[in-house]
Amino acid sequence: MMIRKTRAQLENNSALWIIFSKGSVVVRENESSLPHADVSEMAFLSEYQDDIHELPPLSEAAENDETVFVVDLGGEVVESVGWTTLSLRALLMANQDIGFSIIGRAWQYTHFLRTHRFCGQCGAKTELVTWEMAVQCHQCGHRSYPRVSPCIIVAIHDNQRILLAKGTRHRETNMYSTLAGFVESGESLVQATHREVMEEVGVKVKNIQYFDSQPWPFPHSLMVGFIAEYDGGEIQCQENEIDDAQWFDIDDLPIIPPKLSIAGLLIERTISIIREKSSSGS
Ligand SMILES: [Zn+2]
Repeated sequence: MMIRKTRAQLENNSALWIIFSKGSVVVRENESSLPHADVSEMAFLSEYQDDIHELPPLSEAAENDETVFVVDLGGEVVESVGWTTLSLRALLMANQDIGFSIIGRAWQYTHFLRTHRFCGQCGAKTELVTWEMAVQCHQCGHRSYPRVSPCIIVAIHDNQRILLAKGTRHRETNMYSTLAGFVESGESLVQATHREVMEEVGVKVKNIQYFDSQPWPFPHSLMVGFIAEYDGGEIQCQENEIDDAQWFDIDDLPIIPPKLSIAGLLIERTISIIREKSSSGS
């Protein structure tokens, strides 16, 4: 649910503002965090009074009871002394405490509203539903909800080794990571894992265990992490997607993703599983 606020409610010095301008977020000059501000400080919002929404708190994130306002300036660029913009990605990386739960969520809602102004069924204008995060068409009744696209991400191990691949997008950084891919319609998470691994590197896996999940707001993925054991086959890289894939000894790893990403955490956990196994002699 996103609620429009009255002027009196907006005059709140401690409120946190997430103001989207194209794909970037408005911040104070020389700062890389979201501004705490009173609406009167932001003259560029004067024409957007009706477009200010409050971001509903996540139920389990009750420790953050701060009011968060979200405004979408669309294609408008802010040219106001003291204010500038930061890319969504840079802001997420600099504010990991609230990155996914607040900034990423606000972006997913904003992206949803930008792309659902008209009904997908009959083409009429949609209206925001006030009591849940959805838009509704009053012509035909069709209701749309923000899209979440599940994506599996999997670390594969075999004795002392972990299978890592370098995607074509990481050609320049030379970074090797876990395999990942979108779940297709009608597929379970485990089926998607078997299929993606086979498509990308041509090997079979077994004993697929759930690890953790992470929302990834570019623009609306949910990464679901698994750890799997190798079950046979020779590595064969998928053309156009995978530049190289190899078995790496855990004591001789290439450049891997940082631990803040689920890929980095998956690799860390897999390494500790391998170490536990080898120390117990099994
Ligand atoms: Zn409709």
